[in-house]
Amino acid sequence: MRQPLVIANWKLNGSRDLLKAFADYATSQSAESATLPVAQVICPPVIFLAEAVRQYPDMVFGAQHCSEHTSGAFTGETSTGMLQSVGCRYVLVGHSERRALFGETDAQVAAKAKAIQQAGMTPVVCVGETEAERDGNETSAVILKQLEAGLEGVDLAKLVIAYEPVWAIGTGKTASPEQAQEVHALIRSWLQKQNSSVAENMQLLYGGSVKPDNARDLFSQVDIDGGLIGAASLEPHQFAAICKAAQDS
Ligand code: PEP
Repeated sequence: MRQPLVIANWKLNGSRDLLKAFADYATSQSAESATLPVAQVICPPVIFLAEAVRQYPDMVFGAQHCSEHTSGAFTGETSTGMLQSVGCRYVLVGHSERRALFGETDAQVAAKAKAIQQAGMTPVVCVGETEAERDGNETSAVILKQLEAGLEGVDLAKLVIAYEPVWAIGTGKTASPEQAQEVHALIRSWLQKQNSSVAENMQLLYGGSVKPDNARDLFSQVDIDGGLIGAASLEPHQFAAICKAAQDS
């Protein structure tokens, strides 16, 4: 039985006040929601991480990005050791915005995922096709290539994978539950070929314009174990409603 997992990706948004609003919302909820059997992770901008972990010890935090290097002349970067030392538990890798805007390659995704694992944190590796690739019937080939190259040498037992069709991120165009399930099933069958117990236990998340009103249908698909949430994770009530949908499905 896989525990549902919902991750908030705040991107370049949020503030200390928003962190407080999330913490206040959580405490204002009844004992029932405090015990939701859904794992929740907030990935704020890295500047807020250390203070967030200190101030809100009941919440779990992740980073949106890390360097694959441990130290050195890499201006502006943050190493996995630094993230781990302030209490970060998860790190997103290969998000389509990092791939498209910052040229992150599959080889870098693999190097980062390995560095994250070596530091004792969990990588959340994102894969997904563009609209042109979907229209050209290349979705399966693109996903399989991203899995093969982006997970080379990575310990598959200590990993979360998020399927995020690029055309659905921040666009309001969600994949239908069937489209999402089809790709999740492809990912799980690829994992099955590597190791059947890993395939059975891996939390596979869907991301791309998930909102409270579509989350339930997406999360009720057999191979979808939760979500990676962008815009709707900036509002405590919406994020809580999505987590509730993950619990109910
Ligand atoms: C994301 O950034 O990973 C994402 C899924 O964003 P949104 O929910 O806004 O589409």
